[in-house]
Amino acid sequence: MTVTTTTHQAHEHAPAQFRPVPDEILVGGRWITGDGGTSEVLDPATGAVLQTVSHATVDDVDAAVAAGHRAAAAPEWRDLLPHQRARYLVRIADAIEENAPRLAALQTANTGKTLAETSALVASAAGTFRYFAAALETSDADLTAPRGEYLTMSLWEPIGVVGAITPWNSPIASDAQKIAPALAAGNAVVLKPAAWTPLVSLALARIIQESGLPDGLLSVLPGRGSVVGDAIVRHPGVGKVTFTGGTGTGRALAHEAAEKLMPVSLELGGKSPTIVLDDADLDVAVNGVLYGIFSSSGQSCIAGSRLFVADRLYEEFVDRLVRRARALRVGPGTDPRTQVGPLVHPRHRGDVARYVDLARSEGGRILCGGAVPDDPELAAGAYYLPTVIDGLPNSARVCQEEIFGPVLIALPFTDEEDLIAQANDTVFGLAAGVWTADYRRAWRLARRLQAGTVWVNTYKQFSISTPFGGVKESGLGVEKGRAGIAAYSRQKSVYLGLGTEPNPWAD
Ligand code: NAD
Repeated sequence: MTVTTTTHQAHEHAPAQFRPVPDEILVGGRWITGDGGTSEVLDPATGAVLQTVSHATVDDVDAAVAAGHRAAAAPEWRDLLPHQRARYLVRIADAIEENAPRLAALQTANTGKTLAETSALVASAAGTFRYFAAALETSDADLTAPRGEYLTMSLWEPIGVVGAITPWNSPIASDAQKIAPALAAGNAVVLKPAAWTPLVSLALARIIQESGLPDGLLSVLPGRGSVVGDAIVRHPGVGKVTFTGGTGTGRALAHEAAEKLMPVSLELGGKSPTIVLDDADLDVAVNGVLYGIFSSSGQSCIAGSRLFVADRLYEEFVDRLVRRARALRVGPGTDPRTQVGPLVHPRHRGDVARYVDLARSEGGRILCGGAVPDDPELAAGAYYLPTVIDGLPNSARVCQEEIFGPVLIALPFTDEEDLIAQANDTVFGLAAGVWTADYRRAWRLARRLQAGTVWVNTYKQFSISTPFGGVKESGLGVEKGRAGIAAYSRQKSVYLGLGTEPNPWAD
């Protein structure tokens, strides 16, 4: 088997080098060293320790929530008109763009993603702040139809303090998607980044603070989910939690939230079908399927991880795909030639490898990959080869459980009914892809697929103006889009009486 790998000599191509961030956490506007222990943050491309990060304590959660309430209620934030609050978001967007190369390098160092990808994520984070600034400036209150002598207005008001809990795969993008609309709505935010990848969130916090956002409106508390995350969710002063992460964690968190009758939004896992119909342009489909699963080394909630191919072209298509998967360039994210970087952490690579072993033991055929690269240059990193497996039914565990790595399972289908039955036979419902020349078929399938997002002849494209969310066990609520600010608001209706007569009851 030939697999192209890139080597470490290419580090010199990187536009900016990793620079450590200070080991302090942001609690209510103050940078302090956390007392909740420490963890070593790794570069998954080399296995080297990038730096040690201190963790927040439960007391820090208390302090951050209290400071958040003070800052959100202070006249200099509470009384801002929408266009005035929007200026803070624009300044944050500018500051992210000014620091873009450094933020991208930091995220590549901490997550292993390619610089091309982390640069795009940084740009998208800036775009998210700009978008919600514009949405805020142009938002309206609703004047609703009266049924008497009064004027009724339905207003959107801030919740107070929002808890935001994010995963390790795309920290700056998921942080921005929560912080920007929550601030736009007038809240304070207490953010807990994932334990493996806190560096970008801490760097973003400094940038946001330096851009002039009043102290206390953002706290960033690294630490364990079961300690810091749990304390945020349970805290009586936190009025909403927005969470992105695994379905199991999201479900546990929703139970806690139910106790407090607190709203939550959950962006969870997926096992998305990517579907090649018999009339598809095969070159376009092969590229799209490869990108859908192997970009970000498959560590993407929307990864197209189950491939369904019309049985009449199954062999030809899978052959072509496997040849291309073998030729993908595996290497460090700092090398511009790299297509598939390392996984985020050696422990995660172990989980992915165990799933491939499971597929083997269940009778799956490993068509390519299924191993770590044999290039000695990559031996110290958390690499895993792009892997394609077939020969298993959709009921197999590897078809039903999220692997979150560069592993694609290929399955044939006979006709549309068979396809829909298999594609929807999953607890998840995050995304789906359809490759076809016939837009009527694409439309029909798009309507029948149980998914929050369906791509036709494209995959993994995102726009901040388009709502995103999962159905079934992939989530609750949507992020992005103009309605994104409402998700961090409470609706209040105000009746202004216009009549001069007393209410009839008083007669
Ligand atoms: P995870 O669920 O393990 O952790 C996510 C976050 O929750 C982390 O910050 C973690 O520390 C915290 N956490 C863990 N236990 C907690 C608890 N008891 N209380 C409060 N917080 C707790 O997920 P992960 O492994 O970091 O990320 C991968 C998962 O995220 C995958 O399942 C992926 O599909 C999902 N994801 C979903 C989307 C989406 O938009 N739908 C996007 C990216 C990732």
